[in-house]
Amino acid sequence: MTDAKKPAPQASRASAKKELPEHFKSYKHVWVFVELERGQVHPVSWELLGEGRKLADKLEVDLCAVVMGAPDGGVALATRDSFEYGADVVYSVTDPLLSDYRNESFTKAMTDLVNSHQPEVLLLGATNLGRDLAGSVATTLRTGLTADSTELAIDDDRSLAATRPTFGGTLLCTIYTLNFRPQMATVRPRVMAMPERVPGRTGKVVPFKLALEETDIITKVLEFIPDAASEDAHLAYADIVVAGGLGLGSPANFRLVKELAEVLGAEYGGSRPLVQKGWITSDRQIGQTGKTIRPKLYIAAGISGAIQHRVGVEGADRILAINTDPNAPILEFAHHGIVGDATKILPALTKAFAERLAARRMAS
Ligand SMILES: Cc1cc2nc3c(=O)[nH]c(=O)nc-3n(C[C@H](O)[C@H](O)[C@H](O)COP(=O)(O)OP(=O)(O)OC[C@H]3O[C@@H](n4cnc5c(N)ncnc54)[C@H](O)[C@@H]3O)c2cc1C
Repeated sequence: MTDAKKPAPQASRASAKKELPEHFKSYKHVWVFVELERGQVHPVSWELLGEGRKLADKLEVDLCAVVMGAPDGGVALATRDSFEYGADVVYSVTDPLLSDYRNESFTKAMTDLVNSHQPEVLLLGATNLGRDLAGSVATTLRTGLTADSTELAIDDDRSLAATRPTFGGTLLCTIYTLNFRPQMATVRPRVMAMPERVPGRTGKVVPFKLALEETDIITKVLEFIPDAASEDAHLAYADIVVAGGLGLGSPANFRLVKELAEVLGAEYGGSRPLVQKGWITSDRQIGQTGKTIRPKLYIAAGISGAIQHRVGVEGADRILAINTDPNAPILEFAHHGIVGDATKILPALTKAFAERLAARRMAS
């Protein structure tokens, strides 16, 4: 385990180090599950292909994508995109039983595929779907799974070193799957960077047949009802995020965050205590137990910058922190800091940006 405030050192496990068992040697290649739902691929799949590429290059093996869906469910497009985001091989499982996500059909497809082709590493996004699938695949295969990994590396003996926060985010621990294969990990959206797309890049498609009948599946999908109650916050993929913390003093003052976000065309969010107090909904919480964000600009007002918040925002290109305390931890990692009262600075920023944007509109 390492101090979470310091960068994690290269993974090592001197005491446990040993030669890989002979039967592990048949397990090869790095796999990424491409999460295709209702014709759309979750972008975390491309982020994982970017990260998987580094692991596959270190292991000198292929990077493979697993694409599953109904015949008309976008599998062909997802296959093309998988190659363009770096996959060398796509395992394609197309079956009407895979039209809606059901744990039984997806677990069966994935576990049969793993048993036939034996990947060394299997990565999934830590989304609702990915978490559900990863748990049952790991349990069925009787292998290890490191959930919500924040860093992945390959050790000298080809083991996957999956690092994640522990003890409430105050420490980082590196977890190995020593005795089983494949080595599985999930990673939350936006923790890894989006790789560059190479249009026209292609690879090999390996079709795989799902050995399952509808009568084998207990779960039936009667209807798909989108969650209309959800505010549908798109924090993880927003270019600009404005957030507030307890330093704002009251829920009424939180409107200052929303007003600035509106002028900037940004998403808004907050620290965990604001969710606990009911100032914002949980889908707008930023941090270790909330969303990980990678915006071009992150404006944090009245947020101290506790480690659990920091891990969710340090991928931002630019961080502007507004805080009354010049010694607040957030000012140690923010690119720009304003020491002052956020309830005064936020409206001043909103006014200045609104005027500037209006002037720009007039000029064009
Ligand atoms: C297991 C676990 C998971 C957690 N997960 C998360 C998570 O996902 N996200 C998260 O955010 N937290 C998380 N936390 C909580 C985290 O440890 C902190 O308690 C929390 O981030 C603090 O929120 P805050 O910065 O809003 O409040 P505070 O720490 O109280 O900071 C308020 C800040 O506002 C400043 N301030 C005061 N008045 C003003 C003003 N008028 N203008 C400007 N600045 C002002 C203060 O100087 C201070 O720096 C987690 C904790 C645990 C144990």
